[in-house]
Amino acid sequence: MKSSWRENCGVFGIWKVPEAAHLNYLGLFALQHRGQEGAGIVSGTHESFWGRRSSGLVSQVFDREALNQLQGETAIGHVRYSTVGNQADKNLQPLWVQGEWGELAVAHNGTLTNAQELRLELESQGSVFQSSVDTEVILHLFARTKGSFRERIDATLSRVAGAFSLLILYRDSKELRLAAIKDPFGFRPLCVGRLQEGYAIGSESCAFDLVGASWEAELEAGEVYEFHSKGVDRWKLNSKAPRTAPCVFEWIYFSRPDSNSFGRSVYEFRKQTGALLAERDQRASLRADLVMGVPDSGIPAAIGYSQQSGLPFEMGLIRNHYIGRTFIEPHQSIRDFRVKIKQNPLPKSLEGKRIVVVDDSIVRGTTSRKINMLLREAGAREIHLRIAAPPTISPCYYGIDTPTENELIASKKSIEEIRDFIFADSLEYLSLEDLRQLTQGASVCHACFSKDYPSGIPKL
Ligand code: SF4
Repeated sequence: MKSSWRENCGVFGIWKVPEAAHLNYLGLFALQHRGQEGAGIVSGTHESFWGRRSSGLVSQVFDREALNQLQGETAIGHVRYSTVGNQADKNLQPLWVQGEWGELAVAHNGTLTNAQELRLELESQGSVFQSSVDTEVILHLFARTKGSFRERIDATLSRVAGAFSLLILYRDSKELRLAAIKDPFGFRPLCVGRLQEGYAIGSESCAFDLVGASWEAELEAGEVYEFHSKGVDRWKLNSKAPRTAPCVFEWIYFSRPDSNSFGRSVYEFRKQTGALLAERDQRASLRADLVMGVPDSGIPAAIGYSQQSGLPFEMGLIRNHYIGRTFIEPHQSIRDFRVKIKQNPLPKSLEGKRIVVVDDSIVRGTTSRKINMLLREAGAREIHLRIAAPPTISPCYYGIDTPTENELIASKKSIEEIRDFIFADSLEYLSLEDLRQLTQGASVCHACFSKDYPSGIPKL
């Protein structure tokens, strides 16, 4: 899909496994879809930390020599999109500081909704910030706390609001500890796997497949896994939330389809969204010749649609996967260049056909409009666009890089007006009620479809 929804970040960690940095590299590689602006790993023993962070893809940031320098059997890593802060290297994670108490490194997936207030408060008390990312307030707050590691984590995280799935690597003069922590609402996924005699912890289970870790558990909302020399302690943060709110968009779009997020197969969830869209079209007696998905994220829902409806599934568009973060556009403008460089239609599949096109969302509408124009130029007779989510009417404040409300087409136009704008013959979305049915009544965050923000929105 889309030029405008960008995944937030991904975190991955290894506890007590030889070649931890190399394994962490593989884990981050599997999570590359969650952030492509920069990557970093900090490894550690009870005596020292080693780290490397740089902008670029995981495979560009690390080579064998760089990984060999990251010693120890424990490491945490991060891939980043800039949801908060700009794109400077100093904003890359893991953030890493030293104090008289030892060393601390933090990798964060999510966004803190009160970071700006906390930053102003800390700066007024003399703190000097190195970066512009929200995560840095966690380091400053932690540095001011006293007590055991657990007490310091509780004291620190009782001050922050919003979304955080965190990996915290900590050493003092006696020992090394790693904490995996999910905020009390449980916005972002974070799971634990067993690997050899140790553990892997990551944003998504697809990373476990690559490093050979076996699934252990998804962290519960507000839960902490604390790894230390004597074993693992599981405990709950003191701060509580009125309800859980896992991000439903992880199932719809952000997580990889080969992951299990929040206890469900992402692929199966997406197929179910497609099946629900198909059921509705069957009731409405929609007549079509084939169904296709907008690659890549619309494909599983299109398969679900095909299986439910019996319509043949075809690849109507082929996606180029090898576009870097930037590409050089020709001086002489080629019409719809930015869409064409990503998606190329297959006229043989499309000519003269009435097509059901399945996608996961419409953001500004401009990409859907251009894709529909490409499909029509390639011979499609009718285009029935089906969106495997409700209309996106409001931005995300919990770790996803989204346009402002004003830029979201569904915040301003009716479904009929959107249909007209994107040159579709018909347009259907899932409803919020459909989403409730698909999530089996679970308490989830769907604020970008409903404006029901579980943890409030930033005041500053
Ligand atoms: S607002 Fe939307 S994208 Fe953000 S956490 Fe909630 S469901 Fe996910």
